[in-house]
Amino acid sequence: MEKDIDAEQEHRSPTVLLESIIRSVSERIDPSPQSWSSKYGANYENEKFSIHRYCWCEEENCPWCGPSEMPNFHHKPTGIKVWWYKYIGRGMNVSRPPTLSECSSILTDALSSIPNSPE
Ligand SMILES: [Zn+2]
Repeated sequence: MEKDIDAEQEHRSPTVLLESIIRSVSERIDPSPQSWSSKYGANYENEKFSIHRYCWCEEENCPWCGPSEMPNFHHKPTGIKVWWYKYIGRGMNVSRPPTLSECSSILTDALSSIPNSPE
């Protein structure tokens, strides 16, 4: 995984790198091909991070659609929050651009904190 980051950091901004991290983490959470998790994300939360697919319900009391506008991805140790529109990468907003070392810890934290992950 470290190697992947090194290979990508030469020509990719941290925000684009963060997008690919979120895709990998989503696939790890929900590897079922029919879930399209690398495109849409997955729903999961633990002490390190939370992730939630774009919500279409438009209910006022929904944490994602209502006034609280919960992020679609939140890495708790760095406080970095990400929102996207319908699928990962589209109309993506980041609370602040992550540094490359933060990208690395987001990936490590997320993958190591998902239980029963392969490897
Ligand atoms: Zn909703």
